[in-house]
Amino acid sequence: MKIICIGRNYANHAKELNNPLPKEPVFFFKPDTSLLPKKQPFFIPNFSNDIHYETEIVIRINKVGKNIQERFASKYYDEIGLGIDFTARDLQQICKTEGLPWEKSKSFDGSAPIGEKFIPISQIADLEKINFNLLINGEQRQIGNTSDMIFSFSSIIAHVSKFVTLKIGDLIFTGTPEGVGPIKIDDHLEGFIENEKVLDLKIK
Ligand code: ZN
Repeated sequence: MKIICIGRNYANHAKELNNPLPKEPVFFFKPDTSLLPKKQPFFIPNFSNDIHYETEIVIRINKVGKNIQERFASKYYDEIGLGIDFTARDLQQICKTEGLPWEKSKSFDGSAPIGEKFIPISQIADLEKINFNLLINGEQRQIGNTSDMIFSFSSIIAHVSKFVTLKIGDLIFTGTPEGVGPIKIDDHLEGFIENEKVLDLKIK
């Protein structure tokens, strides 16, 4: 399986990092080794002094598809969850400045934990208005709503599948709202979709 991540999909987040707004979805990959085994904490790696959390709605692909038309894209996933796109912001800044690929700042081991609970989309009232949020140590850090996405789930699937065949079990991280920031040892991250807790992660 593969993990596809969308960058700069929320205007206020693009602004907080001084990035221009994209004209088409920006995507990159994480390997399967960036998933964390269930119940395992995230260990801050020693190659970065500035690991940031990015809370994102994750969609799970349930059908093989290539060149998927936007109007059929909703048939290619049936559940959503929450994931953290951990980013070594210090390394990413160097990569960006030097015009190099981002992988070492985004795709390291454990950089894509996902919540244990995925919610069937049949239980979601409106996919274009999903509320989600992140608490760290009980304090509100990120609040998002999918109505603020620049590119919808369907347009992301249509765009990515022009270039890459989607397969069953692939995950798409759909971008983070504003409010990203650093984590530290002993932080406790809790993620919610519509007030339902779907992610619980300890930092070590
Ligand atoms: Zn992200």
